[in-house]
Amino acid sequence: MDERQSFFEDDEDDTLLFEKLQEHVLEKYPNPERIGCIDHSTLKMWVYTPEKLNLSDPKYLHVLKCAECTRELIELRRLRDAQSERAKDEVPSHPSPAANWRWAVFASVILCCLAVAGVTYWRTHSVATPAQVAESTPVAVTIDLSQAGTTRGTDTTTVPAVVLPRRVVSAHVILPNFSPGGKYVVSVTTDRSGGSGKAVGPANANVQGYHAELTVKLDLRSLPSGTYFLATTHEGDSASYFYPLTVR
Ligand SMILES: [Zn+2]
Repeated sequence: MDERQSFFEDDEDDTLLFEKLQEHVLEKYPNPERIGCIDHSTLKMWVYTPEKLNLSDPKYLHVLKCAECTRELIELRRLRDAQSERAKDEVPSHPSPAANWRWAVFASVILCCLAVAGVTYWRTHSVATPAQVAESTPVAVTIDLSQAGTTRGTDTTTVPAVVLPRRVVSAHVILPNFSPGGKYVVSVTTDRSGGSGKAVGPANANVQGYHAELTVKLDLRSLPSGTYFLATTHEGDSASYFYPLTVR
């Protein structure tokens, strides 16, 4: 960059010398005919985007010998400075870029926290809740004992072993034909003594014709898989009926 170019570009902070020179040009080089003048758009570019011009080109020396072009340049600089002043005045009404950046960081941190919290909440609830619901929601099962002989005590029944899942079950039990209606206690036992109920539920049997049915809720979740007995005890009968049961 030669000195002439740096001189021409020195429009950021016009020096006293520069102003003196301008006064000199304005006074000594009037050019009303605009002979050899630089067009307005080029002068505008000179003020606003001097990097787009090759100011070392000798043609720009014309300005030093033309009051009209100098006057135009002075006016363009005045306009430019007024615009940048207005831009500065608007600063307080807008957050500074730094403040914007801090807000962006703050906002993204908050969003991250919310996202993490949301995902954590979703994971704990979406994983735990269905599992809990699945485990505590009774599984409806039907146990048909209608064809079981009215054997009791140590007698073997004729129905195939009942199979129940290790879940909370809502068992709809069709009692052996001709069983009495009324209150029952249904239990899962390990033997036929009836005194080792692993899961017990009260039930009320309804009788229709020779069918007696009841629904009982049994929690089998804590039972190890294995073979058990399903015992039914009628309130008016001290003895229980036992049916083979497999829990798995
Ligand atoms: Zn000129």
